[in-house]
Amino acid sequence: MRIGYGWDSHEFRSGVPLKIGGVEIDHPQGLGGHSDGDVLLHAITDALLGAIAAPDIGTLFSPSDPRWKGADSAVFLAEALKRVKTAGLQIENIDSTLILAAPKIGPHAHRIRERVAELLQIEPDRIGIKAKTPEGIGTENAAISHAIVLLQSTRKQTRLLKVRSR
Ligand SMILES: [Zn+2]
Repeated sequence: MRIGYGWDSHEFRSGVPLKIGGVEIDHPQGLGGHSDGDVLLHAITDALLGAIAAPDIGTLFSPSDPRWKGADSAVFLAEALKRVKTAGLQIENIDSTLILAAPKIGPHAHRIRERVAELLQIEPDRIGIKAKTPEGIGTENAAISHAIVLLQSTRKQTRLLKVRSR
């Protein structure tokens, strides 16, 4: 088994759409950044990469590289997932916490979970999406995301199945 942890933050900015967990949310401001600023997908990507001791998201997809300007963060997540699979691992579950003053994530949590599950090719009930408002930490103009992931070896499971079927 492998555990991975990721963290990210982006500042709210006018004139860009708000994207969280691959889902566009109707809000007066979006998240700034070199890519689409998807704070949740970035945290999950880093958690996956960290679990397999791969280089982090900023190293693989440098913010100074024009290729990633305005990029769909699903691309970063797909690369991390590919590396996880190549390492002979699969996702057991993911948990995450978003910290932002607005908008309320509750009404969108179901859609976000479904989309992240689709991107990671796992069941939605393996993904935790939680949100809190920042209390007393002075980050009202930012969205923060923490994510943790547990990976299981696919090889080990095959071996276990073989033992059971004997
Ligand atoms: Zn980011």
